[in-house]
Amino acid sequence: MTEIIDGKAVASQLREDLQDAIETLADAGARPGLATVLMGEDPASQTYVNMKQRDCEEVGIDGIHVEIDGDAPAEELYDAIADLNADDDVHGYIVQSPVPDHVDYRDVIDRVDPAKDVDGFHPENVGRLVAGDARFRPCTPHGVQKLLESVDVDLEGADVTIVGRSDIVGKPLANLLIQKADDGNATVTVCHSRTEKLVEKTRRADIVVAAAGVPELVDGSMVGEGAVVIDVGVNRVEADTEKGYELVGDVEFESAKAKASAITPVPGGVGPMTRAMLLYNTVKAASLQENVDVDL
Ligand code: NDP
Repeated sequence: MTEIIDGKAVASQLREDLQDAIETLADAGARPGLATVLMGEDPASQTYVNMKQRDCEEVGIDGIHVEIDGDAPAEELYDAIADLNADDDVHGYIVQSPVPDHVDYRDVIDRVDPAKDVDGFHPENVGRLVAGDARFRPCTPHGVQKLLESVDVDLEGADVTIVGRSDIVGKPLANLLIQKADDGNATVTVCHSRTEKLVEKTRRADIVVAAAGVPELVDGSMVGEGAVVIDVGVNRVEADTEKGYELVGDVEFESAKAKASAITPVPGGVGPMTRAMLLYNTVKAASLQENVDVDL
């Protein structure tokens, strides 16, 4: 029987586990604060920030939302970032991507105070992660680690193939999984659009992580018998539904499930974990900035 990894349940447990830490911080007069910054009117981004704000409310984190017109000059966003860097009530914030074309996202990330960079995208935090001393693990890779932990996968010496080398998923996940750590010690192959013999590389893996942004790229023929399959992909594909689309992962679920020992669904797999890990990083940021020890 293939185990369907229930990301919603794992995320919900994680949020519950954060409650004590949030209460401890609040009792010390340091309730964690998370800000979301949205520039422009991208509907998917609006949905994401709304969900992040709702998550904050549910767990007792102060949520602040900043909206900037999509046509505004980049300086307006830079000013908002400077304000958030200076605001002691904001322990962490994220600038929702994508930003409009006239704004350079790298420039934006460089301006975020690394201590408040709860996405973990600032070069200082990327460097610390690679060096094995992460301050904030980026939310999606960290969420994937927690999902693997939830099904007791033995990572030590395991072959992991990651399809995708982006700065927010593939690269940081590879770096985390190769580290000398209980939740590392794997042997990782990172694939991308120029990879040759992709099928060979996924089929030999004990764990396949699909993060390519290509609907149903990884099917059952690419999965080895008994492998664990983690589907990071979230793709909107046209469908005869009320919204006119449906969400599809990077894995062809049914055929991959037939081969896998465990697999994440889309939705309800990695997505809820990404959101939960953002809350986790916010609590960690508050704890570090306020010098209040909490159990994380
Ligand atoms: P990017 O587009 O930034 O990166 C995609 C990566 O996949 C690139 O490295 C690309 O290669 C590689 N790739 C594309 N096509 C192929 C192919 N045919 N074969 C092999 N490799 C391929 O995407 P992200 O990392 O930002 O996101 C990946 C997916 O995960 C998306 O569906 C996104 O929506 C989803 N996502 C989900 C999250 C969640 O919380 N569930 C969070 C973040 C992302 P190359 O570098 O050569 O272009």
